[in-house]
Amino acid sequence: MDNQEIRNDFPMLIKHPHFIYFDNAATTQKPQSVIDALTNYYENDNFNVHRSVYSAAERTTQMFEACREKVAQFINAKDNKSIIFTAGTTQGINQVANGYYKYHLKKDDEIVVSIAEHHSNLLPWQNLAKQNGAKLKFIDINNNGTLNLNSAKKVITDNTKLVSITAVSNVLGTINNLAALIEIAHQHNADVLIDAAQAAPEIKIDVQKLNPEWLAFSGHKMLAPTGIGILYGKKELLAKMNPTQLGGEMIEHVDKNDFKAKDIPYRLEAGTPNVEGVIGLSKAIDYLENIGMNNIENICKNLGQYLYDQLSKTDGISVYGPKQRQTGIVSFNIDKIHPHDAATYLDFNHIAVRAGQHCAEPLTNKLGVNATLRASMYFYNNKHECDKLVQKIIEMRSFFNGA
Ligand code: PMP
Repeated sequence: MDNQEIRNDFPMLIKHPHFIYFDNAATTQKPQSVIDALTNYYENDNFNVHRSVYSAAERTTQMFEACREKVAQFINAKDNKSIIFTAGTTQGINQVANGYYKYHLKKDDEIVVSIAEHHSNLLPWQNLAKQNGAKLKFIDINNNGTLNLNSAKKVITDNTKLVSITAVSNVLGTINNLAALIEIAHQHNADVLIDAAQAAPEIKIDVQKLNPEWLAFSGHKMLAPTGIGILYGKKELLAKMNPTQLGGEMIEHVDKNDFKAKDIPYRLEAGTPNVEGVIGLSKAIDYLENIGMNNIENICKNLGQYLYDQLSKTDGISVYGPKQRQTGIVSFNIDKIHPHDAATYLDFNHIAVRAGQHCAEPLTNKLGVNATLRASMYFYNNKHECDKLVQKIIEMRSFFNGA
């Protein structure tokens, strides 16, 4: 796979050839095909969906629903009624918390998460535990940052109603052993929610094989526009979910005092949806599938390994997570230089990395640091960019420390 050929598809990378974008875990750049799809939508297909009988709007509705089918195939869902359009991972997880578990948890039921969760997969459960008197419990990680399955076996009990876990840590770049975890959870009749925000962009997801009850991800981290995401749920659970939003297009009929909601998925998608987001997501999936999810996983993993190896060889750098890399996410610290100072220095050198807690404060605390630097690479990045980053870090150390 030729890196330059891939980069040619991304206007931002072509227009800014000296800019190194290593913040893909925050959001990804968009290929021309996605940008063109949005322009085409506004030039030719800008009609509301599911409402009008005129043929132009009917055509847009068909494009919109074809994307639901495409997403179902992308994650190998049995039925496209299991695919709910959301604004992103955060909204999807909140919808599950407030539309389903709010009504299905009682005092002393347990919700289990890991210590390495993004706040989006922690705060909704903290909130619900407070409201319902449920207990929030944590699976620990091993010293090398991988999920500790022995801890999972201890923490998950017959009182556990939900295990909500990320597939890929947005800080450590580890892929959690979901198959093993889901087996443990299901042995205790607990449901499983997978936060696939970092997984969907990089690894092939098969919900029939994995068999989680829920799975949520965001379009913008996989080449699509912001403001569009997917919530997958098993149909029988979605059918019991209460809509968290009420309004237009989700009802069968309404009288002065009451309403009857439509079937899934529409009852869970009140109001005008993000039509251009859905159309952009559809093109993003086409692009990813054309490159191939296995190729994407390999490119990202190899880049992650390369950067990890180069950083580990460099004096004064601590890299977090296991030696064997699985994704393109690498978090590290530089001796005696605060991550924010380091990120500012790198910014002066046209390198965009993230500094801070990456919305995973309990994990940062567990690592025993205040903050980290994070370089997160996607399949359009390359080793030359990794070398440049390492070179600038070496220069930075002598600039700050005279090292
Ligand atoms: N979970 C994980 C693991 C993430 O990395 C992110 C985004 N950083 C989210 C959830 C939230 O995604 P969004 O902001 O798109 O809702």
